[in-house]
Amino acid sequence: MQTGEAHGRAAWRHVAQALALGLAGVLLGSAVIASRQSAAEGYWAVGYYRLLADALWQRFDGALPVAIPVALAAGALVAALRRGRKGPRLGPALALLALVGGLRGASALDAWLASRGPNLVIISIDTLRADRLGAYGYALPTSPTLDRLAAEGVLVEDVYSQSPKTTPSHMTLLTSLYPCVHGVELWWHDEPAHVLSPAVHTLAEVLKNAGYATVAFTGGGQVDRSRGFDQGFDRYSHGQELEKTLRWLDAHRRGKFFLFFHTYLVHDPYVHPLRWVHLFDAHYRGAVLDTVERLLTEEDGRGGPEAYSQDRHRRFWASVQQDDPADIEFVARLYDAGIRRMDETVLAPLLGRLDALGLARDTLVVFTSDHGEAFAEHGHFGHDDLHAETLRVPLVLRFPGQLVAGRRVAGRARLLDVMPTVLDLLGVPAPPVVQGRSLVPWLMGHPDPAGADEAVSEYDHRWAGRVYESVRRGRLSYIVEDAHEHLFDLSDDPGEANDLLDTRPTDAAALRAALASWLEECRGLAGRFGPGDAIVRPSAERARQLRALGYVE
Ligand SMILES: [Zn+2]
Repeated sequence: MQTGEAHGRAAWRHVAQALALGLAGVLLGSAVIASRQSAAEGYWAVGYYRLLADALWQRFDGALPVAIPVALAAGALVAALRRGRKGPRLGPALALLALVGGLRGASALDAWLASRGPNLVIISIDTLRADRLGAYGYALPTSPTLDRLAAEGVLVEDVYSQSPKTTPSHMTLLTSLYPCVHGVELWWHDEPAHVLSPAVHTLAEVLKNAGYATVAFTGGGQVDRSRGFDQGFDRYSHGQELEKTLRWLDAHRRGKFFLFFHTYLVHDPYVHPLRWVHLFDAHYRGAVLDTVERLLTEEDGRGGPEAYSQDRHRRFWASVQQDDPADIEFVARLYDAGIRRMDETVLAPLLGRLDALGLARDTLVVFTSDHGEAFAEHGHFGHDDLHAETLRVPLVLRFPGQLVAGRRVAGRARLLDVMPTVLDLLGVPAPPVVQGRSLVPWLMGHPDPAGADEAVSEYDHRWAGRVYESVRRGRLSYIVEDAHEHLFDLSDDPGEANDLLDTRPTDAAALRAALASWLEECRGLAGRFGPGDAIVRPSAERARQLRALGYVE
């Protein structure tokens, strides 16, 4: 009998030891896998250990609810068998459980500590040119809410996007890499296009590693999650962006967050209810207004513009006589109406909710756009060239207690600079490779230590063997459009109307060389951060939306 009991105890000791060893093995294996995964996809600097712990717990959390009762049951059984006699030692198993519990507690405490601190809200209004906003000197009342935001924060006056196209420009905003490096181009028609490389450290990833909850509410279309835009976001959503944002803010007012908001409300076709149109033009009578009224009536029947009318874009532009000054003028006023509508129905409620929830004083708000819009200044509409009307975007930053209210910064900046700037303001180190620079010294009223004012932009036509690039440096603007080069002096020609290419060959050569060295840098980085072979085609729903926005014929 005694031999049997001793035998039983030895067996239980072996089971307990095997359990402890197995558990330790699972922990170690998880740590190795998680660290390999993080090194491949993630970010090794600040917050790396948090990423590791997070990945570890995600693996382990599923097993933990099972492992604890099993361990407790085994312990109870062993205790019953022992009946006060010398039995199997539970020391190692209990120590392991204490270690697991301690790590779990420390990780929860760290997550709680990391969740304190300022929030970040980036608002990107697609297709919003800077010079149509009151804060940027526009005479018509397009933007009362934005003007108030600018008065409460810092406005950067001369900001260029790195691409006139939605997809590459937004990817540059969120990665601080030029389009020629990240390589995520526009979806043309139904053609497949590249996906962001996992090797790129996005703004969302860096902030997620630093303890932020990360969320994006977008208009979808050309900023679809399938292109890699969702990299680093806990949640990345398409459509009904304002409603979802307000609901999300209500539910997440406690805890640190990065919210990215994007909307197509001012993108063409400029079909807006007449109460906004009449604020900017009450006199025009013609085919464009007729079409707007007809489209509005149809959209009312379908439940609003969200129910995309696929030929909305084509019908709008078919009604515009593109060489008729009255039509050009009216189309520009329709665009103004869209800005006012956005200002009242999107920006005001969004900022209002931050105020109402008491979040405004501890939130860095960044207001910007991905590109501008042309109204026949150089012979066409839309955003298909590299002139200032298509590239100059607003950049307003409000950070109460950190940035002086009402300051205007006169220098030239780029969307490329937004990510290093916000990370600097939030006190989170930037990843090892970013192509932009922090504007914080400027925003604080100091001279820019780098003294740089060069802004390069590109149109993703390089794949077709044609080159569309531009560079602004000092007072000069140099644009290459396929085989044609142009040079403008912005000091007396901000509208880029008088081509000086033939009279100033030395200036042109200097800027040509600047573009060549920029391209050289791009080629070097594209090997590390360029897209791989992964390509993706728009889904049927996305193709419908792209058609409504005029991207698919
Ligand atoms: Zn866009």
